[in-house]
Amino acid sequence: TASVALFTADLRLHDNPVLRAALDSAHEVVPLFVLDTGVHAAGYDVPNRRAFLADCLRDLDAGLRERGGRLIVREGDVVREVCAAASECGARQVHMAGDVSLYAQRREERLRHALEADGRQLRVHDAVVTALPPGEVTPAGGDHFAVFTPYFRRWTSAGLRGVIRAPRTVRVPEDAASLPVPSREDTPGVSPGVAAGGESEGRARFAAWNGRPMKDYADRHDDLAADATSRLSPHLHFGTLSAVELVHRARRTGGDGAEAFVRQLAWRDFHHQVLAARPRASSGDYRPRGDRWRHDEDEIAAWRDGRTGYPLVDAAMRQLRHEGWMHNRARLLTASFLTKTLYVDWRVGARHFLDLLVDGDVANNQLNWQWVAGTGNDTRPNRVLNPLTQARRFDPDGTYVRRWLPELAELRGPSVHQPWKLPGRERARLDYPEPLVELSAGADRFLRARGLEGRST
Ligand code: FAD
Repeated sequence: TASVALFTADLRLHDNPVLRAALDSAHEVVPLFVLDTGVHAAGYDVPNRRAFLADCLRDLDAGLRERGGRLIVREGDVVREVCAAASECGARQVHMAGDVSLYAQRREERLRHALEADGRQLRVHDAVVTALPPGEVTPAGGDHFAVFTPYFRRWTSAGLRGVIRAPRTVRVPEDAASLPVPSREDTPGVSPGVAAGGESEGRARFAAWNGRPMKDYADRHDDLAADATSRLSPHLHFGTLSAVELVHRARRTGGDGAEAFVRQLAWRDFHHQVLAARPRASSGDYRPRGDRWRHDEDEIAAWRDGRTGYPLVDAAMRQLRHEGWMHNRARLLTASFLTKTLYVDWRVGARHFLDLLVDGDVANNQLNWQWVAGTGNDTRPNRVLNPLTQARRFDPDGTYVRRWLPELAELRGPSVHQPWKLPGRERARLDYPEPLVELSAGADRFLRARGLEGRST
């Protein structure tokens, strides 16, 4: 007999409960990945993620081959392809990871229904995508936590499952048919600086991180120029690294940096448990504020292209376009600038991020956007981040801005943050726009729209 292990957001051999359970339940296993046309139709299959995914699949295939198996790749409707693969090899069981988006929840339902109609069973495994399964800790009388701090307290004291070893051997039915494993070279339109994907790469990155860099994380994570965060988010998104394993290993290392890093992993779980309980928060306001968003195409284009005239905002937007990744502090600032200073709907910004981010995922992206826009889980929903204040704190001498804005690279020190203050002739030499909007006017407009008066920070 054989079982099917359906890989989704868990493209790894180490610490994979799905693969382990499939191997334990049968003689042979079909390690299946479906290039799902439903994901494509929903607009989530974009070049940067497709390139990283191709690396992940190639590495997974290589890892399986080292163990005597291989990856089986299909393309089409995920339900049809899984049912076909299960029927071809006579599998009684299909194993997969539980996941939280509306799409994933519906996929699971459709799959369960179709498999059961065929006399087969779907087995869904928890704590594969997140460290703690969504819904594992809940507040009294509620189905999810709406505020991070009490969630984190419970998350920290909850027991995690143990780490599962990678299998030594994987036997795959000889006649299981597969498409060729895709490769990054087949993907046009990829940003030039997209990092390499794959479990081997992810594990090497974590090993390099789990020492001095992680020790320094608590002090340096907000320093934009230092680039001192882990950059593991694409690996967590595709599941080439397991959140459970990272929490265990970071706790073993210990110290302030490791604690701060584990706290960020808890943020990831937090957003997942919100989305699991409120899947419609991917497109609807979690807490509607009666916003009547503005929509000015030129302003939106200037924001997307990094031409707002505010160097810190523009540097971040250029980094996103170049690398398919952006520092968290920069994500906060650019999102605040769009939703509050320009007062544009968070969905417009979230879509642009999802078009480019290698780590772009529904739970973290949509709910962080809502957090910044004040329609989500921030307990201070009306704060407006000021790019100049943020620049003083997180890029004090302008190194980050000079890295991403070549047209300002010759300006020295913090003067790079306010090119409009340069003497006339110097200013005229720069090919760089005037500020799109006056900061306090933008903030006032937003606060008035929310029926408030206040100050930006
Ligand atoms: P580190 O600082 O090293 O943190 C370690 C890990 O913790 C990250 O890899 C990530 O998995 C998790 N993490 C860190 N911060 C957060 C957070 N605020 N929320 C949830 N998880 C977090 N993260 C995504 O993974 N995908 C997204 O699509 C995404 N969109 C975002 C959009 C906006 C507007 C904002 C403000 C944040 C978004 N984030 C998103 C969260 C965060 O910015 C990134 O996870 C982080 O910058 C990734 O870099 P890193 O791996 O170096 O993080």
